Parts: sequence; structure tokens; C-alpha cells
Amino acid sequence: MARIVKKFGGTSLGDMERMRQVARKIAESITMGDQVVVVVSAMAGMTDHLDDLCQKAVRKCNLQEYDVVMSAGEQISAGLMAILLSDMGIKAKSWLGWQIPITTDDAHGQARIKDVAARLLITDLEQGIVPVIAGYQGVDETGRVSTLGRGGSDLTAVAVAAAIKADRCDIYTDVPGVYSDDPRQVSSARKLPEISYDEMLEKASRGARVLNLAAIELARDLKIPLQVLSSFEQKTGTMVGPDAS
Ligand code: ADP
Ligand code: ASP
Ligand code: MG
Repeated sequence: MARIVKKFGGTSLGDMERMRQVARKIAESITMGDQVVVVVSAMAGMTDHLDDLCQKAVRKCNLQEYDVVMSAGEQISAGLMAILLSDMGIKAKSWLGWQIPITTDDAHGQARIKDVAARLLITDLEQGIVPVIAGYQGVDETGRVSTLGRGGSDLTAVAVAAAIKADRCDIYTDVPGVYSDDPRQVSSARKLPEISYDEMLEKASRGARVLNLAAIELARDLKIPLQVLSSFEQKTGTMVGPDAS
């Protein structure tokens, strides 16, 4: 039995049919005997829409309130995913950042994680419940909601994997893995079976948004094995780990 964190990005949660497909994938893994903690992003386009609303409201938003608005999409995804899993006979429970809590500093809009409390998540796992965590959000030390920067659900997934001592962190997205170049831009791009943390960091710093930069750094520092793979196919993806040489 493996303990795995599975993170599903917005592109994998585009509409209810895609969400249902994701729920089926999670259910399969549970049936195989794995212990799974799920992290979800907002449904595709949702966070951009929330950002738009803030821009329309005033010229310059208060960052604490901006985070309250921007974190809302992940709350919806977490609740919906727990509902879909329960409907498939899988015991599941949604968790928001402040409930766990995932404590951050007060750099609203780009907060850094200070701590992830594992207790409630471990209790769920021991009771056969799948925790479904809203990615990208936390709470600062004064109790205010914070967000981790765009693409930050990857960081939530890695930090949670470290806190619960997971065997692996799977990042599900809309491409089958990490490629030599962005497969949507370069038709000759090759899928890489594996890549080192450092090479992945280099790709991310050159703009490959397939993995969030801070998430790769944390995975490297804490030696958390990552896998990037497709939500829509059964194939294995790209393993991101220490340099083989
Ligand atoms: P998610 O919503 O799952 O977080 P993202 O849009 O953040 O997904 O990241 C996935 C996208 O990253 C892919 O659709 C792809 O266009 C882009 N991408 C850029 N560079 C690469 C690369 N080298 N390998 C794979 N995907 C890449
Ligand atoms: N929903 C947030 C964003 O669009 C976080 C994420 O997707 O990882 O940036
Ligand atoms: Mg992303």
C-alpha cells in the first residue's frame, strides 16, 4: 500500500464531466489499496475570472481581501470533488487551508508556507476517508486567508506530501508528462521519462508552467518524489527526482 498525494490542476477540472473522470481515477486508486490525499485547483478559468472581478472592483485591491476572493475557486472544487467521490461510494471530506491549517507568512498574494498540520489528514486516512484539500490557499498567523501565488496548488501538494510522509506526489495535468519543450508550442517536443529536480527547476524558471517553481524547490529540498502525468490517460508520466548520476 502506498501513501500518495494526487493533485489535479484546473485544466483537469474544466467541467463536471472532467471532474467526474478525475473522481473515477481517484476511486480506482483507492480500490487498488492506496492511501490517497487529494489536492485540487480551481476549475479552469475560474481564478482568472476572480482576478478580473477584483480588477473591475477598484484600481488597487487590499491584498488580504484579494486573497479571500482569489482562493474561492479551490473551495468550490474541493467541495464538488468530495461530493462526487461520496456519490461513488468513496468516503471523502473537503478541507480548506485554514481548517487544516496550512499556516503561511503574511505576504498576501505570494505567501510562503510555514507549516502544514498533518493531524486531521492522518486521522482521515486512518478512518478510510479521502481528504480533499483546496490547493493554493493557507492562513496567516493572524487568521487571515492567504494565497501562494499563481500555480500554487502544486506547492500545496508537495507541502502536504512532506507533512504526511507520502511515498510520492502525483501532479495530474492536461499533458502526459514533462516534455523537452512545451508540447503545445513545439510539435517535435519529446516526453521525458524522468528529469532531475535541478533540470526541472531550470525549465520552470525559463517559463515552463507545468510545475510551479516553489513546488519544485520544496520537493528537491525535502526529497519528495514527484510524478507529472495526464488526468485523461492511464500512462505513466515523468518522474522528477534526484539526479541519477
Ligand atoms: P494545471 O492546470 O494542470 O496546473 P498548467 O497549465 O499549469 O496545468 O500546466 C500544464 C501546461 O504546461 C501544459 O498544458 C503545457 O502547455 C505547459 N508546458 C510548458 N512547458 C512544458 C513542458 N516542458 N512540458 C510539459 N508541459 C509544458
Ligand atoms: N487556481 C490557482 C491559479 O490559477 C492555483 C493553481 O491553479 O494552482 O493560479
Ligand atoms: Mg499549474
